[in-house]
Amino acid sequence: MMKKIVMSAGVWVVNFVMNNMSDSFFKVESCDRCGQTPLTIRQMSWFTEETLCMDCTDKEKPIKKALRDKGITDAMEGCGYIPEIPA
Ligand SMILES: [Zn+2]
Repeated sequence: MMKKIVMSAGVWVVNFVMNNMSDSFFKVESCDRCGQTPLTIRQMSWFTEETLCMDCTDKEKPIKKALRDKGITDAMEGCGYIPEIPA
């Protein structure tokens, strides 16, 4: 269902960061994905709204790289789910 929603992901992410950076982003105390706590270094997921630890951020990197190799990274930014690594 979510995968069918088409949006201007880049603009959406900027708006999301602007709207949420001052509240939830810095209040999150554990990684949204793996639950690691305390969250000393935090980073927004490239794909979802989750606040991630460095481990989970690192796990997105090969996916991003694979997407970039296919030239579709920008289209997936803020898509709301973790994409499959394209074959
Ligand atoms: Zn994590």
